[in-house]
Amino acid sequence: METIRLAGRIILNCEIEAVTGLHIGGKGGNLEIGGVDNPVIRDVLTQQPYIPGSSLRGKLRSQLERKLNADQNKSVGKAKIHMCEKKEHPCRVCRLFGVPASSDFGSPTRLLVRDVAMTEASVQRLNKAFTDQQFTELKSEVAIDRVTAMASPRNIERVPAGTVFGPAELVFSIFEAEDLELLKDLRDGLQLVEDDYLGGGGSRGNGKIRFKNLKFALRTTENYSEPNPVGEYAALADFEKDLNQLIEKIEAALKF
Ligand SMILES: [Zn+2]
Repeated sequence: METIRLAGRIILNCEIEAVTGLHIGGKGGNLEIGGVDNPVIRDVLTQQPYIPGSSLRGKLRSQLERKLNADQNKSVGKAKIHMCEKKEHPCRVCRLFGVPASSDFGSPTRLLVRDVAMTEASVQRLNKAFTDQQFTELKSEVAIDRVTAMASPRNIERVPAGTVFGPAELVFSIFEAEDLELLKDLRDGLQLVEDDYLGGGGSRGNGKIRFKNLKFALRTTENYSEPNPVGEYAALADFEKDLNQLIEKIEAALKF
């Protein structure tokens, strides 16, 4: 991989609100009698449910691949993802999410998404509520076996609607001036995820989320220790309205 110089990083902090119950699956299940069939992923130390950065990033990626009509040509586990095969002009998906150096060529990852914990306010709210499990509710669903037509009930563990996770942190690395255009893809990706769902059971009403209180800060390579606030928006729609000005502001602050 040729070396390319980092010009700066945009740090996006925001909150993610579960508008409906949210189920992001964890390990285990049926470990004990009366245990949860489909548990949510929890922090090992605090036992609090969280949103893994990989879940959000994977969802952003798959939504953008579909929007940009990128060929899902590579298998990763059970999923298919897109990866450009030619070194020349990697597409927007490959520039945003990177191409591993182990392929014929590498392209640096521009977008990094960190794990998101519940806000302290949500922890306290759920601690006071009488939920089925600690911090969560159980939703029973009836699964119908397609062959035998037998119905079997099962429990899906969900984080209740109204729970807020945050601050989420998305780090966007900028190497060249054209990278700033990828912010539009990031914006579209966030909107696509809002209109779709996060986690499991989206078709049964789970996983509607909303991004709130988006704060953008810029760290330039020249002055990396001081993050410079460049935009603050209550919701994605406000970010959308200001996006072109935001890009101009960031471009003026960076030296390419
Ligand atoms: Zn590509």
